[in-house]
Formats: sequence, C-alpha cells, structure tokens
Amino acid sequence: MTRSFDTFRADVVRRLYEVISRVNSSADLNEVLQEIAQGVVEGLRYGVAAISRLEGDTLVMSTVAGDEVDLAELVGRRTPAENVLGREFSIADHWGILRFVPHDRLPPEQIESLWVPDLEISDDPDAWHPLDALYAPLYSSTGELLGNMAVDLPPDNKIPNREQRELLEMFAVQAGLALENAQRRDSLSRQVRLGEALKQLALLAGHVDLKSALEEAANALSGALPVAQVVVRCFADNVEDHEDYAVGAPHPPRAPADTVDLVRADLVRHAAQGGQRPHLFSLPDDDFPGLASAPVIRQQSELFGGSHGLLAPVGVDREVLGYLVVLRDETQPRFEPEEVDAMHEAGRELGRLVRDVRLRRTERRLLAELRELDRYKGELIATISHELKTPLTSIIGHTELLEEAGVQPTSVGAISRNAARLDRLVTNLLNYSRIQGRHELQRVPLDLGEACHASLEMLRIQAQTADVDLHLVEPQTPVRVLGDAEELPRVIDNLCSNAVKYTPAGGRIEVSVRAVNGRGEVRVADTGLGISSHDQMHLFSAFHRSTNPQALTIPGTGLGLAISRTIAELHGGDITVESELGTGSVFTLRVPIAGDA
Ligand code: ADP
Repeated sequence: MTRSFDTFRADVVRRLYEVISRVNSSADLNEVLQEIAQGVVEGLRYGVAAISRLEGDTLVMSTVAGDEVDLAELVGRRTPAENVLGREFSIADHWGILRFVPHDRLPPEQIESLWVPDLEISDDPDAWHPLDALYAPLYSSTGELLGNMAVDLPPDNKIPNREQRELLEMFAVQAGLALENAQRRDSLSRQVRLGEALKQLALLAGHVDLKSALEEAANALSGALPVAQVVVRCFADNVEDHEDYAVGAPHPPRAPADTVDLVRADLVRHAAQGGQRPHLFSLPDDDFPGLASAPVIRQQSELFGGSHGLLAPVGVDREVLGYLVVLRDETQPRFEPEEVDAMHEAGRELGRLVRDVRLRRTERRLLAELRELDRYKGELIATISHELKTPLTSIIGHTELLEEAGVQPTSVGAISRNAARLDRLVTNLLNYSRIQGRHELQRVPLDLGEACHASLEMLRIQAQTADVDLHLVEPQTPVRVLGDAEELPRVIDNLCSNAVKYTPAGGRIEVSVRAVNGRGEVRVADTGLGISSHDQMHLFSAFHRSTNPQALTIPGTGLGLAISRTIAELHGGDITVESELGTGSVFTLRVPIAGDA
C-alpha cells in the first residue's frame, strides 16, 4: 500500500465521517441524498453519482451530483425497478454489494436508456468504458432495498480497483443507513404533520358555516403534505336542497357541475360495494383504476398542473357527501401509505363535519318551524274563538229579546243570519282541517267546462239578486283533467262565489276555460272591489280577509282561498291572482290535463 493511497484513504474516510454525521443531523431527506451523492463525487472522486429512490416498483431519480451539465435533466426520471435491479443486476459482476455491468455485456436495447458520459474509448484493459455501469444499491439495516446509486467516471477514468470498491461499498452501506434514518425521520415528521392536520379537522366540529369550515380543512391539508392542489367538494343535499360547492387550497377550485355528477356516481357505486378507500390515480400512465369519471378527473387535474393524485370520498359509513382530491405535480413524491390512510381518515372526518353541520341546520329550521306553528296555533284559536263568539253573542241577545218581548221578525232574521254564519264557519273549518290532513286525492276524469257551468248555475239567483252579470266562455273542445270529484268543483265554486260576493251591482263576471301548455285553466275575472297588493300577499293564508273596509262588510271566514289553494296543490296545480284595488280581480286555477297528470 503506497503512502499516497493511505492519504487518499484517510481523506475518504474523513469525508465519509463528515458526510455521515451531517446526514444524520439533517431533517430533510433531499438534503441527505444530496450530501451522499456529493460525498461520492468530492470524497471518492467519481465524476458522477446519481441516487434513485425506490418507490414501489419504480426507481425515481432523486439526486445527481457531478459537473456534467446534462445531469440535472435526469432528476425526476422514473424507471421500472425491474430494468435495473432485475435485468442489469442479473448480468452484473458482484463486487460485494456493488454491481458492475461491463459495457460488452449490456443488451443493445438497454444501452438506449443509459446516460453515457463523453469519454474516449481506450485500449487499456483497465480503462473505464463509456458504457460501463457501476451501481451501489442502498440497503436499510434490515436489508430492505431503499434505493440505488449509479456512479460513473471513476477516479482517473479507470475501472475501480479493489481498494476503491471497498471504499465505495463502505460509503454505500453508510449511505443506506443514513437514507433509512432520514426516511424514518421523514415518515415520522410526515405522520406528525398529518396527525396535526387531522386534529385540526376534528376541531372544526361545531362550525355553523360549512363552507368556511371546509376552507379551513383544505388549508390545513395543503399545509400538512406536499400538494399542488387540494379540492374539497360537498354535494348538494337532497333533503335541504342546498347547492353543491367546492373549496380549494392553495388555488380556488374550478370543477364545473357536470364533472361532479360523474365523480359522485363513481364514489357512490364504490361505497355501495363497501369500498371507501381513497383512489390513487396518475396522469402520465393514464392510470385511473375503476373510475368511470377518469376523463373529467384528468381534465381537472391538468388545470392545476397535477401529474398524480388521490381521490377520497367525503362521507360517513356508506353515505357519500362529497369528495376530497389531493393533486401532486411531477416533482412531488408518490403517496406514502400513511398519507393514503390519513386522507381516508380526513374524508371520514370531513364527512362527519358535513353531516353534523347539516343536522344542526335542519334542527334549527325545524325549531323555527315549530315556533311558527305554535304561534299560528295560538292565532288560530284566538281567531276561531272570536268568530264563534260574535254570532253567538248576537244569537243569545236576540233569544233574550224573544223571551222578553215575544217573537220579533227582526230577531228571527238575526238569529237565522248568525246561525247561518256559524254554520258557514264550522263547515269551512271542517273543510279546512280535512284538506290539511289529506295527502292524496281520489282522481277521476273531470270536465272543467261542466264544473264551471254547474257553479254558475248554482250562483245564478244570487247574481241576479246582486245585479251582477255572469258569463261562461267554454272551450271549443272539452278540457278534461284528473281531479277529485268533490274537492276540485269546490275550488271553482269558491272562486266564482267570491267573484259574485265581492262585485258590486252592475258588475260583470266572466269565467273562461281553456287548455294551455298541458294544463287545464279556469279563469274567473270580475269587475269587483279588487284587492290591494299588500292584501294579495296574504290572500291564501287561513283566516286572512282583505283590509279593505268595503270587503269586510261582506260576511266571510277567510278560509275559502286557503282551502282552494291546498286542493289545487294536491292536484299538482296552483291558483294565482291578478288584481287592482277598485278595478277588479282575476283568479286563475291551473291543473294538469288528464293523461299528463
Ligand atoms: P272569505 O271570502 O270567506 O272571506 P276567502 O279565503 O275566499 O274567504 O277570501 C279571502 C279574502 O280575499 C276575502 O275576505 C276577500 O277580502 C278577498 N277576496 C277573495 N276573492 C275576492 C274577489 N274576487 N274580489 C275581491 N276580494 C276578494
């Protein structure tokens, strides 16, 4: 052993020692890899050192060191591990853990994928050939292969001798251990960050505003792991019929609604089969296992410059309430198993959040409805008592008069008028309560023209007495609807009798029937008192009577229109009003035509 070699060896060992102590104190995996590669170039005097990490069955070029300018382009390159660790290693010479593939042994197709240095071919049998390949696989302490270091341009451009191989091997062993430590630290700190992010998501429980809660969640996730973009989407809720929406970090989301339906269908189908694990996909390989929505995911991912990603359902049990997408670009690593697990948990945590916020919102709405119902009930009791009390007081008063002064024709008239009023009220109340409880009707074909004709016949004498003109404009062909034989004519009766009631002498009422856009229409137009726009707003509420003093002098209960609208709605139809105070009113009933109903 020459003195100069001793010095070299001592230098190398010192260099090795320095590198190892630095790498063991570094928290950043990339820094560690860079230190190791740099150590091989500077300490062992190789022209090039390139480290690839093993990600599943792929070798990903992570770090290169050396002066060659085109080397940097190799970073990020992905090679199937089998090509190197399988095929090349099988034809390689074993130098301890190192693998040497002499240039003449390489199959031609393998040469194409090699990086070849700009080196003259020499006749010297010890000279390094540009196509020679030397690898130092990097193992963990338990013998697990973590990566592979390729070195080129050895010292003096000679095939490394035994001593040099030993040094490189020593370096590779230490590098493997350092890599293992760094990966462990990396994994630990990743787990800590993921754990923190999940904790942050759990703390969002209790939020009232779902959108801002999900925004916080997206921010927490994008800060916890390397991402190009995070999107959290919450689907529309069928019960409350809320709009669906998405939030994103670091950029706003851009997915249009049609994308959402396709992804939703995929997730719902998977969930129904019990599959709620996140889906991993990658764009370069067009690899979207089991996703029919792949084209839209690809399109959206490209918008954010994503090269691979993860799609996790946001949901509770088998209910899918939305989704979480985490996108990475090609410079960012594949998803580690603990990241996939954490995103699975994040999807569940967000699912609980969405469900809880919605539950609380529904609770609040129901509570408000209950309060309103309670208020309404109180009002109803007060109104009914008042309505019953007035005619009863009058009946009692006149009965007392009868007792005291013998039979008076005016008292008999008043008693019968008030008893009729009570009768009307009780009948309407009964109708109202019956129709409120109805959810379905007995439907038979009904001719709207005939129903209007019957209504007007019933009102003819009343109209003549009031000096109001009645007109029926019948359709050319009968308009038939499917309707309840008792309830639907009741609506027409009510609209026509209101028109007669609220139209002063000399007025005119025109009832017309026609079919428009698949609906049968009964239009009752009068030239009567009309209704102010303020009163129109409450017209269909139970017990509402116009504030117009002239209308209030006419007996009524304020229940007819409330009953009529409920009946129309039970038929899948509606009633609308157009009116102007002092000019007249037009009430229009619309119900689906038989066959379309
Ligand atoms: P009622 O006629 O028994 O009071 P309705 O519910 O049928 O009850 O009508 C509610 C109110 O709407 C009436 O009290 C009246 O003030 C107003 N109204 C209904 N129809 C007409 C109409 N054709 N013209 C003017 N006002 C009307």
